[in-house]
Amino acid sequence: MPFGWREITARRPWRISAKLLIISSVVTVIGFSAVCVNVMLDMRRGEEALARQTLENLATSIESDIGRNIEIYDLSLKAVAGNMLLPELATVSKTIRHLILFDHATTARHFGAIQVFDAEGRLIIDASTLDPLVENRSQEDYFTVHRDNPGAGLFISRPMLFRGAYSIVLSRRISDTDGGFLGVVAGSIRFSYFHELFERLNLDPEDTITVLRRDRTIIMRRPFDLDIIGTNLNDRRSWKADNLPAGASYSGQGPVDPTPRLYVRSGDSGPLFVVAGKPLAAVFALWQREAFRIGAVVLALALFVLGSTLVLAREIGRRAEAERKLEEMATTDALTGLRNRRKFDSVIDVEWRRAMRQKAPIALLMIDADHFKAYNDTFGHQAGDQVLVGIAICISDSVSRAGDCAARYGGEEFAVLLPNTSADDAFKVAEKIRLKVQGWSDDQTASTVSCGIASLVPAAGMDWPVLVAAADKALYAAKAGGRNQSVVASIPKLSRVA
Ligand code: GH3
Ligand code: MG
Ligand code: MG
Repeated sequence: MPFGWREITARRPWRISAKLLIISSVVTVIGFSAVCVNVMLDMRRGEEALARQTLENLATSIESDIGRNIEIYDLSLKAVAGNMLLPELATVSKTIRHLILFDHATTARHFGAIQVFDAEGRLIIDASTLDPLVENRSQEDYFTVHRDNPGAGLFISRPMLFRGAYSIVLSRRISDTDGGFLGVVAGSIRFSYFHELFERLNLDPEDTITVLRRDRTIIMRRPFDLDIIGTNLNDRRSWKADNLPAGASYSGQGPVDPTPRLYVRSGDSGPLFVVAGKPLAAVFALWQREAFRIGAVVLALALFVLGSTLVLAREIGRRAEAERKLEEMATTDALTGLRNRRKFDSVIDVEWRRAMRQKAPIALLMIDADHFKAYNDTFGHQAGDQVLVGIAICISDSVSRAGDCAARYGGEEFAVLLPNTSADDAFKVAEKIRLKVQGWSDDQTASTVSCGIASLVPAAGMDWPVLVAAADKALYAAKAGGRNQSVVASIPKLSRVA
């Protein structure tokens, strides 16, 4: 396809720049936002990791405190269970028996007095008194479990009212040397121990500490709620072995209340385990504030950048349009709207060289109004101008190919450049224009044009004035031939294309 002036003027470098500006701004904003989001997500993960670590430390330290106390107490229970087998015990006084059986651990503040029950569940020895009341505990699970299962070891009961205080009961079996059931030694750890332990910790009101038995029975919970204590969580979905194994964390709604929390479970070392929880809202409160602040700043910056980009782009577009208009004005003939002589000269220069490169024909029509001086003299200059406009319209209507260039060459003379066109085809165009002008003007004010046509394949060393001169010559011939006609220039055989 020939490259014509339409394509030359269609190039709008500023428009492309405006688009580029918008694209680069949008890409920059998206890039910065992505980096910002990434940093904020990193911060969030950091906050979560910190909270998890804090909760893990808390759960582990509580578990080890509880474990240590249970161990101390268990040592006493074991000692009592062992000493009960001493044959001498039956022979000594109650006071001496007390001294032999119970060590100092049993007197600690939160530990209930150790009691010994015989094989029928009757209370036979009580560390707190030399004369125990008559009691039978054969129905309690801390008794039956040992009676029915010699290998039960240390049994920790569900929380219960024991000797007037909420406690967990710890019990061990007393077996004779053959493994026969002799009774049970039991003691208790009061809830006051847990209360005091939790009070020592610096916790927020919404933070939770849950102490559980291995079968997932709640032994103790902070905040304290008697209705929850003793509940078995086996039928709840959360905190199962698969979503909260030892040492792991669980994020979401817990089994007790609907507040979503980050829960961290202690290790697996003691007879009880601890789950420490912190509301997710509290875990991410600081992060949320920071994220909101940074997000707002980034959003404002992004809007500012995009806004100024749009303003700039519009300004660039406006200037490009002004430039285009200026260029159009500089290359357009004001009266007829055709290209002006200056533009025509630059186009013919470009097209001539292209035709030379492609060894293609290039045609030129020179069109001149007939007897125009007389017309002007008769109808006035303004009417003459209208005729020139009319001729220009006839020319533009007849010239439609993209590479064609119709220009006002000067005065009442027009030039039409037709790249890639043979003399025959150019003649057809010329005739079309001529007949159009003829048909358009009415009888009284009949205006006609004469056309000179030249078409040639530019040869090396030739310049485009050759083409103009040839067309001009043909135009004179048309004038001489009586006007209102088209004449094709005769051009040496070598370069002529017919
Ligand atoms: P010919 O058929 O030989 O071309 O006769 P002609 O009268 O057209 O030729 P000539 O070159 O003698 O006259 C050209 C006239 O065209 C002179 C001038 O009055 C008129 N003319 C040139 N430019 C303009 C223009 O812009 N407007 C008007 N109305 N007339 C113009
Ligand atoms: Mg003339
Ligand atoms: Mg004329």
